[in-house]
Amino acid sequence: MNHPTPEQPADAVARLRATFRSGRTKPVEWRKEQLNRLRELLTSHGAELAAALHADLGKSEKEAFRTEIDFTVREIDHTLERLDGWLRPEPAPVPAHLGADATAWTRYDPLGVVLVIAPWNYPAQLLLTPLLGALAAGNAVVAKPSELAPATSAALAGLLPRYLDTDAVAVVEGGVPETTELLAQRFDHIFYTGNGTVGRIVMRAAAEHLTPVVLELGGKSPVFVDRDADLAVVADRLVRGKFLNAGQTCVAPDYVLADPVTARALEPEFVRAVREVFGAEPRTSAEYGRIVNERHFDRLAALLGSGRTVTGGDSDRAAKYIAPTVLADVDPAAPVMGEEIFGPILPIVTVADLDEAIGFINDRDKPLALYVFTESDTTRRRLADETSSGGLGLGLPLAHLTVSDLPFGGVGESGMGSYHGRYSIETFSHRKAVLSKPLH
Ligand code: NAD
Repeated sequence: MNHPTPEQPADAVARLRATFRSGRTKPVEWRKEQLNRLRELLTSHGAELAAALHADLGKSEKEAFRTEIDFTVREIDHTLERLDGWLRPEPAPVPAHLGADATAWTRYDPLGVVLVIAPWNYPAQLLLTPLLGALAAGNAVVAKPSELAPATSAALAGLLPRYLDTDAVAVVEGGVPETTELLAQRFDHIFYTGNGTVGRIVMRAAAEHLTPVVLELGGKSPVFVDRDADLAVVADRLVRGKFLNAGQTCVAPDYVLADPVTARALEPEFVRAVREVFGAEPRTSAEYGRIVNERHFDRLAALLGSGRTVTGGDSDRAAKYIAPTVLADVDPAAPVMGEEIFGPILPIVTVADLDEAIGFINDRDKPLALYVFTESDTTRRRLADETSSGGLGLGLPLAHLTVSDLPFGGVGESGMGSYHGRYSIETFSHRKAVLSKPLH
């Protein structure tokens, strides 16, 4: 049965709840079929999705496949290969007072109807990866793409009903009014990716129904560069990580902390690395993206004056282009050090030493990621032990989120809960405790 969009949120939820109650989404065969169908969608319509991502964010086809389409396919394959094992009931030892014939175990029950709300920066990956995790766990799902990536939202709203079981998956497009109406419904789980202000709105709405939430938020992810690090390698990796998707990545390195000598020595390396990755004129590079809209462009353009420009600094509002920019001598009180940058501007802030760097990080909100470049085991251990962040990248930014066996999520202001691989099953299931004692 094919349901034309737009469907009213309340109707979609009622329809999905009836399907869930019928038991249709529970058999593992149904779950695998949905994942295989999603895989087929991605492999058959990759070019169409890549074109939508280009229209929304100027993403190159290569980047669209790498960070959104193939990323999701890999997550599907990882899940399909291991799902039976993850779902296997786990025996628990039984204490002696219950007798030798008693047994106990845990099993994963799907939660019911799940709402997934996605942002615009990786609008396909961040809708589809939670969606596939929720389906793998046996749930029905309402998927709400971001209205700020309209081409991708429209493409997914058109494609998903053609491939997935429309009685168990609904796509509701729209912005604040539609999401507000959705949030008034009772869900069994809400998975939200986006900013903390809306995260609070989501959590408040969820509290009305005692609905559990995962909040995948952002924040300023710091980088610590030690004086012993190979700065050419550091600059290469930071430039590739920071300027991917024009810096509009939740785990993008937000700012660099280094001592004054290291900071100064990094500057020419950043100039070289930007030129190597994006050429002398990044504006003409097919690999370099654009800012999502004028509002974000204006916000970012106002941050360009926050320090001494090492590279970049130029922008073009009509093209929503901001050059890959590195700023040095940045005052911790400068505007660029206020909110999460979420764009292609990388400030360098100097600190006297490791102690000051640790203090700097701990004085601020717990970040989604912390990146550390050092040869010293002690420095790595101290940063791991003495700071708190959603993830920790030693020697490489962003990549931890491509490891499906690692939980991806934030802590404190950067969010709560996690997903990917088996952690998606944990998130979208109830782990039911079972005790069994024979009657005779
Ligand atoms: P966005 O503006 O697309 O908003 C995200 C979603 O919230 C959208 O679907 C939108 O419709 C909905 N929304 C907006 N206002 C709402 C309201 N008042 N009530 C209900 N729903 C509403 O995206 P964004 O928030 O600008 O995304 C950027 C932020 O997301 C950054 O902070 C970034 O770090 C973070 N982020 C986190 C992750 C992660 O995995 N942790 C990934 C990507 C982005």
